Amino acid sequence: MFKPQNNISANCWANSLAQALYAQPHIHDYLDSKYGYTNNFGIAINNATLHHSGQQCAHEAFQIFVERAEQPIQQLFEMVTENINTCINGHKSHIRDNSYFLLFPTIPPPTQSLNDYLVKRNPSISGAICDTCSHPIRDRSEILRRVSKIITIVLDKFTLKTLTTFPHILDIPTHPPQTKLQYELTAVVEHSGCAYSGHYWAICKDFTTSDWYVCNDTSISRLPHQPQPSPESYLLFYSQVA
Ligand SMILES: [Zn+2]
Repeated sequence: MFKPQNNISANCWANSLAQALYAQPHIHDYLDSKYGYTNNFGIAINNATLHHSGQQCAHEAFQIFVERAEQPIQQLFEMVTENINTCINGHKSHIRDNSYFLLFPTIPPPTQSLNDYLVKRNPSISGAICDTCSHPIRDRSEILRRVSKIITIVLDKFTLKTLTTFPHILDIPTHPPQTKLQYELTAVVEHSGCAYSGHYWAICKDFTTSDWYVCNDTSISRLPHQPQPSPESYLLFYSQVA
């Protein structure tokens, strides 16, 4: 399923990203339904990202790709959170929605509960006053409002080289209603080297066979086990399965 990608000008970051995106069944579903084929998938992504000269970071390239993608593709990745203020008298008020294509957990490993992680963000509330009673705000929380079909997590490769585990299955509680969405790991983009140089490759699951492959530019080789966390782990892609 995965096709070799030439490294024509230090574009391993684009190749790894293209392979990770190619591993997403939701993207195939959309492209199949709209265009009837996905044969030029990797080429299209490489062209789109390579046209942004000077780009070297796969997660920045990912952000550019999603921002330029067709809206249905964008929505596969868009998570929306809502900030809610609670005053000392218990009045709750909506502050604003935030939109994300990438999540940056600050504490590795990413937990089973991304919602907990988001709630704990607790943006600053100093000086905030309740619109209803004019008393101080005691709490501002950020909760998940819209969960995307594909969740992309960036591990900070330059400061957090201590990752010991990441889940292959993510259960995301929605809020409300209290239901759970289940996601499975579909791709890991890995990186070695430092911030301004180095090499990227991707470990991707073939969703037609459930086999894992290491996609390293022109080399595609089967991995006989699931990907394991390593200091090179950099981007995680999870796809909604239920
Ligand atoms: Zn109040």
